[in-house]
Amino acid sequence: MELIIREREKGEREVEGTIPSKCSVKGYRVKLILRGEKVVEGKCECGSFPCPHSSKLYLVYMRAKSLGNPHNSS
Ligand SMILES: [Zn+2]
Repeated sequence: MELIIREREKGEREVEGTIPSKCSVKGYRVKLILRGEKVVEGKCECGSFPCPHSSKLYLVYMRAKSLGNPHNSS
């Protein structure tokens, strides 16, 4: 799974990714706004937030972070 990470102002970070789902062949596009390790905002294509897909994206992001993702330089 591919993560798109964008730095925003005020130390916030935007994380975007597609989460596979049984309900959708192409998966759901999820976007999270994080401040540190805390989710301050988010949106999911399934129409509800928070939802299982946003939790999944958060976990994937945290895992990538702990593995030393090159996007994470702070
Ligand atoms: Zn969702």
